Amino acid sequence: MIRPPMPADEDVRQATLDAYRILDTQREEAYDDLVAIAAAICNVPIAVISLVDRDRQWFKAARGIDGSGTSREMAFCAYAILDPSETMVVNDAREDPRFSGNPLVVGGPRVRFYAGAPMRASNGQPMGTVCVLDDRPRQLETPQRIALEALSRQASRLMELHSVSRALRLQLEERGWYEQQLLHYQRELEHQNADLEEQSSTDPLTGLANRRAFSRTLEAAITRAHAAGEPLSVAIVDIDHFKSINDLHGHAEGDRVLQALGAMLLTGEAARGRVARFGGEEFVRLLPDRGLTDAARESEYLREAVAAMPTGLPVTISIGVATLQPSEDASSLLARADQALYKAKHEGRDRVCALP
Ligand code: GH3
Ligand code: MG
Ligand code: MG
Repeated sequence: MIRPPMPADEDVRQATLDAYRILDTQREEAYDDLVAIAAAICNVPIAVISLVDRDRQWFKAARGIDGSGTSREMAFCAYAILDPSETMVVNDAREDPRFSGNPLVVGGPRVRFYAGAPMRASNGQPMGTVCVLDDRPRQLETPQRIALEALSRQASRLMELHSVSRALRLQLEERGWYEQQLLHYQRELEHQNADLEEQSSTDPLTGLANRRAFSRTLEAAITRAHAAGEPLSVAIVDIDHFKSINDLHGHAEGDRVLQALGAMLLTGEAARGRVARFGGEEFVRLLPDRGLTDAARESEYLREAVAAMPTGLPVTISIGVATLQPSEDASSLLARADQALYKAKHEGRDRVCALP
C-alpha cells in the first residue's frame, strides 16, 4: 500500500471543504438517495458519498458499508481527488500497488473494485467523491461512468445549497439580532427623552411644574377659556418675609418650608401642572372655571391652610388674584395678578388681594 500524496493546493482545498460546514452533519435523505441510485446503476453492493478531510474520509452517505468513515491513508478517494477532472477506476485493487496492502482490501470489506467521481466545489476544488465499490473485480461501463459523474455533480449542488441556505439563515438571524438591538436603543432613547422632558418641566426642589411648563398649561387654558367664553383666574402666591426664615433658621429650613408649601398647593389639584413654582419663594396657581369671587375665596382657604401648616415656624403667604378679561393674553393676566400681589404685600401681607 502506498500512502496517498496530498494535492498541491491542499490548504485551499481543505479551507474550501471547511467552509461548507458539512462535515459531521446529520444523515440526510437527499444524499442517501444519491448513493442508492449510484449502487443500483453500477450494480454494486457499496456506494458512498465520501468527503476527504485532513486525516480522514468522512461519509456523508453510505450504503453497504458500516461506520462513518476511515483514515485518509486507507481512502481510495484520497487518490481520486488528486485529479478532480477524472473519474478514478480501480478494476482489481489486489493488482494495484497503491491499494494491494490496504486494510480495506486485505480485510473487510475486501474491496476489489472502486470507481470514484470527484465532487467539485464552485471554485473547482475537489471535496471528495461519489464512489461505488465491490468485493469482486469488475469494469465500469461508459453509461455507468456518465451516470456516476452526473450523481457526483448532483451531490456537489446539494452541498452548495446546504452552504448557501446556512449563510442565508445566519444573515437572517443577524438581521433579527440587529433589529432587536435597534429596538432596545430606541426604547432607551425614548426613556431618556421622557426623563429629559420631565426634568425640563419640573422644579427639582418641590416636584411641582416649573414656570416653563406652567406657561404652556396657561396658554392652552386661556385659549380654551376664550373659545368657550368661560371664566379663568390665576393666583400668584408669595411667602411673607421668607428672607428672614432663611436668615433666622438657615437655607435648609427655608427649603423645607418651600417643600411643605408645594405639597400643600398640590393637595386637591387633580390636574398636574395647575400649580407651579413660579420662581424663588413664589408659586402660581391656575383656577380654571373660576371667576374673581370664587378664585379669591379659594385663595383665602389656601392662605388660612398655610398659616395653620405644622412647620414649627410662623409661615404666612400673600396672594394676588386676577381674572381673565376678554381677549387678554397670558402675560397681561400674570402681570395683573402680580400687581394684586404687590397690593397685598403693601397692605400688610398675610392676605389675598383680587383684581377684576
Ligand atoms: P416679602 O414678604 O416681601 O416677599 O419678603 P421676602 O423676604 O419673602 O422676599 P425677598 O424677595 O426679599 O426674598 C426672597 C428670598 O427667597 C431671597 C432668596 O434667598 C430666597 N430664596 C429664593 N429661592 C430659594 C430657595 O430655593 N431656597 C431657599 N431656602 N431660599 C430661597
Ligand atoms: Mg418674592
Ligand atoms: Mg416673599
